[in-house]
Amino acid sequence: MWQKVLIANRGEIAVRITQTLQAMGLRVVAIYTPMDADALHVRVADEAWPLAGNTLKETYLNPAQIIQIAKQAGAQAIHPGYGFLSENAPFAQACADAGLVFIGPSPDVIEAMGDKIIAKQKMTEAGVPVVPGWTGEVSSTKAIEKAAKSIGYPVLVKAAAGGGGKGMRLVSSPAELLSAVEGAAREAEKAFGDARVFIEKYIESPRHIEFQIFGDAHGHVIHLGERECSIQRRHQKIVEESPSPFVTPELREAMGQAAIQAAKTLGYTNAGTVEFIVAPDQTFYFLEVNTRLQVEHPVTECVTGLDLVRLQVEIAQGKPLPLTQSQISQRGHAIECRIYAEDPSNGFLPATGTLNVWNEPKGPGIRVDSGVEQGDSVGVHFDPMLAKLITWDSSRSQAIEKMSWALRRLAVLGVTTNTALLQGILDHPEFRQGETDTHFLQRLSPESLISEPSEAIVMDALPLATFAPPSQTNQTAVSETSTLWKQAGLWRNA
Ligand code: ADP
Ligand code: ADP
Ligand code: MG
Repeated sequence: MWQKVLIANRGEIAVRITQTLQAMGLRVVAIYTPMDADALHVRVADEAWPLAGNTLKETYLNPAQIIQIAKQAGAQAIHPGYGFLSENAPFAQACADAGLVFIGPSPDVIEAMGDKIIAKQKMTEAGVPVVPGWTGEVSSTKAIEKAAKSIGYPVLVKAAAGGGGKGMRLVSSPAELLSAVEGAAREAEKAFGDARVFIEKYIESPRHIEFQIFGDAHGHVIHLGERECSIQRRHQKIVEESPSPFVTPELREAMGQAAIQAAKTLGYTNAGTVEFIVAPDQTFYFLEVNTRLQVEHPVTECVTGLDLVRLQVEIAQGKPLPLTQSQISQRGHAIECRIYAEDPSNGFLPATGTLNVWNEPKGPGIRVDSGVEQGDSVGVHFDPMLAKLITWDSSRSQAIEKMSWALRRLAVLGVTTNTALLQGILDHPEFRQGETDTHFLQRLSPESLISEPSEAIVMDALPLATFAPPSQTNQTAVSETSTLWKQAGLWRNA
């Protein structure tokens, strides 16, 4: 049996995985770069090993070095988290070759799903509906033009190796087609070292709805219901929820069956997410499979009562899934807000600084998956997501109310975050009614959603730890607090 697991990641997800591994009685091995030497994921681990090198390629993206550390530390398995090497088939294979268990699907499934063209072909064979499109050779311009015409404009040019919204171009008329194909191919070559692109029908006013799946080594496959992820900026999710306010029991059944069909066709093991795009008339189309734990997995954990990291570990240990489809249900409603160090009113520019104050809200049904603590500094070297705020309650409206409260109680001073935008989204009537689509944030600019922080919100956000009413004895506290207010741009003269 296992004693130690190395986590090949950093930030909030490394901290999150540590919690479950330690609760299961396993020792956690962290890895870190010089810049991360004092990071939270290092502080919570049982042991931490330095990575040689400075660039990502030399460190968190370096399979050889990570596997060597895992062997030296005496780990039996590696959890890749999300991002970094989590969807890297050669890494999964190298782990196996070194006698280490990679906590994720098999290398061949990772490789096949990492190619959106192959993924679409496999799903078509499996009878899972895919977005109408064309996956042929890009070398012939005539063929592309003909294909786009037969699909019908608008079309979307996408990168076969795409991810994180990169290598995508919307084309509304034939005149823009060829330059968009070239642009997308260039971007894809730069980001993924793979210039292949394909064309898809652009679904108007769609929702992004995805299903969490799990397969074990004994041929069992289950789904844990859906997550609605339509609130996106630049094709990246920022607010997620489960269940989706749009999904009826009939649609859930149909999409869940499609997700299971997809997983069974692939012989899928461990955690995965089958992403769909859904048109307003409820027609759904397969988008892609993410072969890893997803950022937004906590909303599924809240409504199903299951620990997805534990399930991943148990499956990787060869155990059968502990429950069948009929034993799974969604209870209540959960919402997740991604807290980014960025300035939404300045083109989502990443923000840096020192977290002079970082005070997380607490209460029933409130969860904070955080990669930072007060006093930490935030740089530009890694993903700007600092934490995820998750609320659960018995109904959607109550979960929203609770999120609104929790956002106001998340006190952050010293680094600009997107909390005011998140608040604006939650307050918007369209969101309240569950009538959102992936264009929500394009239709409604960040500026229109962010309201000036009211005096009440500023007061709410003030951590009690640093606030004290003016008196002779606590003048220092007052002056420190006002300095923090000024740094955070919240200071207003009375
Ligand atoms: P990535 O690998 O970058 O996540 P996806 O294929 O999952 O790429 O697409 C990301 C997002 O782009 C989707 O959530 C959706 O908002 C948008 N999108 C993708 N394909 C389409 C499409 N055919 N029509 C409309 N929007 C799409
Ligand atoms: P149920 O009738 O309880 O839904 P089924 O046998 O019809 O159970 O299976 C439903 C899903 O659950 C299938 O996808 C199957 O692969 C999976 N499954 C069946 N038995 C098990 C088990 N012992 N452990 C985990 N998953 C299982
Ligand atoms: Mg995607």
